[in-house]
Amino acid sequence: MRWLPVLAFVVRGTLLAGTAADFVRALHENQFDRSECYRVRDISIVKEDLKIYLTDGHLIFSKPLAGRRVAAAFTADVDSGDGEVILLPPSRGERSSLASYTGSPNLDQHFRAAMFIFTGSDYDAILSQLPRNAANKKVTDVAAKLDDFWTPRLRGLSEGFETRMALDLIGGSAGHPGIFVGLFESSKYGNFDVIFDPWAQEQIVAGRVVERDKHSYFDTWTSFADRSARHNPPARREDVLLSDYRIESTLDAGLALDCVTRVKVKSLADGANAVSFQMAAEMDLASVTVDGRPAEILQRDSLRSNIGRSDELFLVFPPEPLRAGREYEFEFKHSGKVIQDAGDHVYYVSARGNWYPTHNLQFAQYDLIFRYPVDLDLVAAGDIVEDRTEGDRRITRRRTASTIRFAAFNLGHYEQVQVERSGYVVDVCANRALETALQPKPRQTLSLPVTAAARQSQGSILVGPAPAPAAPSPVAELQRVATEVASSVEFMVSRFGPPALPHITVSPIPGTFGQGFPGLIYISTLAYVKSPAAANPSDQLFFDDFLQAHEVAHQWWGNRVTTTYYRDGWLMEALAQISALLYVEKRKGAPSAALMLDSYRASLLEKGANGQIADAAGPVSFGPRLTSSLTPAAYRTITYGKGLWVMQMLRRRMGDERFLALLLDLVKQYDHREITTDEFRQAAAAHLPPHSDDPKLETFFDQWVNGTGIPALKLSYAVKGKAPQLRLVGTIAQSDVESDFSTLAPVEIEVARGQTITQWVRTSSDPVIFTAPLKQAPVKVSLDPHYAVLRRM
Ligand SMILES: [Zn+2]
Repeated sequence: MRWLPVLAFVVRGTLLAGTAADFVRALHENQFDRSECYRVRDISIVKEDLKIYLTDGHLIFSKPLAGRRVAAAFTADVDSGDGEVILLPPSRGERSSLASYTGSPNLDQHFRAAMFIFTGSDYDAILSQLPRNAANKKVTDVAAKLDDFWTPRLRGLSEGFETRMALDLIGGSAGHPGIFVGLFESSKYGNFDVIFDPWAQEQIVAGRVVERDKHSYFDTWTSFADRSARHNPPARREDVLLSDYRIESTLDAGLALDCVTRVKVKSLADGANAVSFQMAAEMDLASVTVDGRPAEILQRDSLRSNIGRSDELFLVFPPEPLRAGREYEFEFKHSGKVIQDAGDHVYYVSARGNWYPTHNLQFAQYDLIFRYPVDLDLVAAGDIVEDRTEGDRRITRRRTASTIRFAAFNLGHYEQVQVERSGYVVDVCANRALETALQPKPRQTLSLPVTAAARQSQGSILVGPAPAPAAPSPVAELQRVATEVASSVEFMVSRFGPPALPHITVSPIPGTFGQGFPGLIYISTLAYVKSPAAANPSDQLFFDDFLQAHEVAHQWWGNRVTTTYYRDGWLMEALAQISALLYVEKRKGAPSAALMLDSYRASLLEKGANGQIADAAGPVSFGPRLTSSLTPAAYRTITYGKGLWVMQMLRRRMGDERFLALLLDLVKQYDHREITTDEFRQAAAAHLPPHSDDPKLETFFDQWVNGTGIPALKLSYAVKGKAPQLRLVGTIAQSDVESDFSTLAPVEIEVARGQTITQWVRTSSDPVIFTAPLKQAPVKVSLDPHYAVLRRM
């Protein structure tokens, strides 16, 4: 799935036809209707900004499904036959995204064939146009040929939209606008899709599925809110509210997990026929009841929507439509293998935030019971309220002190220490053994799959560099890790107030990454092994300090303040990055912070196979869209690198005191709420020093957050006049960026030992001249000595 909001919805209305199972069977058997085949000319399908013209050709419709025709196929198989699709993205960022994939900022593509899948009234809309042209008529001669050709394709393709079609057609309320999917075959781009979904936050998406190096990518060419939504943005709303999760989990000796998840679901709308949930694909859903009565389940991969995701969408059809304001108890029985063995009893959880059914990751209380083999240690979010042994099983019950968005757990054969700082308890666990990959021989790196979904829905994976050779015992380093984590907790509590939960457990995960869930932090097993003296200094700093601090920072960024929209997800990572940087700077000094900034800068400037620097893959606000067949690794480089630098640049414009006040304000204002990039921009602007250049930070966000480009800046200067009436006349020349790029850059003039004047200069494509009056000749003049601008070095 490209992003979350499209997925989570609830349908209202009356059940039109049969059950979900009947619907799915009918969908798999659906075919084109030989009595609904037309010769067509000048038919248009217009969906807001999207225009499709069936200029000349044949059009055949599918047979009805749940009372509605849901597909049509067009073939330009006549003399001068033609179809055309036109899409003009409304913003510069979207035009340049489209251009990066297609070579053109606008989509205007002729096609020879197309299939349309729809759940709205498109059949009627097309039929009503037929009388306009006398050439339009029903035909029979090509119907059989078209049916034979298109029906297998229809069955294959509509399976990919099964869940959504079920929602619209058997759960949907009357008058629902419905989804429209155009699947085009063009000579220039091969197959590509254009989707119009009135329910999505961005209604129009164009792109295509690309296979590369055995991976499937959905390359999002462009995605934007349609014309109506741009002029009159629809309010975001929830249809159900979840509360009080109670999850009972049993882990057998083979590490298979068997769960009963109960959650209260309050319907906000009357007559909902279906509720959508998400869960890891590794988990099998056996049954669902609603208030004790069996509910029907529709669980199905969605082809395009699930690429790169480990989450699966499923629908629950309660025995009767839900009533507004009533609270129901949903009970799910599910099981699966979500725990893997990395060797020598070092385990990891592959479905860390999605091992149970969730809906839009709403904040809820959790009551968790785990039954597990007595020789294992199991840690999870929340405070222990019960812990006992029954035969060869240990039973631990935990409850969360406040609401959280997801509950994670971890397990292993642990050694554990407890540290208390600033009134908060931090438990730090280490594996007693080292996983196979880190044992001296054979040397091999375990690389966990980091899916787009994990990155986006859990919003907190920080992947580090490849591992360095390791020392043997993680336990030996436990005290050091515990001290490190505790001091970063202390640092952040002193700046941002209480963390998401008062009890934080830190546990290891094999691999080169970490992840910060409320009350439970995973850190790379590499953080537990002492780096050899020869290790790269920035890698060493990353695993010794930065990674832990970043994951600790997620207790605030992502778990107290959150985001839901894919374009805002970068914010949580960027805030965790700058928090870690501030901590490292405090603990290890400014050169250590500079080392991290240099290392992230270098990765942004690294040239790819296409000859472009990594930063050029797209704006940081594109989030998961950055992962594409063109730039498979760009998400990581840009989210963490550009994100850190955006925050660092804001910090330098504000000064540390104002910047820290901004961070504290965010925690207070957006506690247990989501923040958008634009709200963040406004909050940041409010903390700028008075009379700042670009006071609303609009230029800053246009360029650094919603745009790409890293300039090279060059300072030259001369001192003119006679003391005490000297003038420093300087020039800053900018290159390597688009001609409209412009940034503020500080020039620091040391007028006497330890006494400096900072002059901020706004750059442009032409060299900019600035002057500074001085009483005496400067000791030193330097451009941006304190990492205030991301620039080429
Ligand atoms: Zn993170």
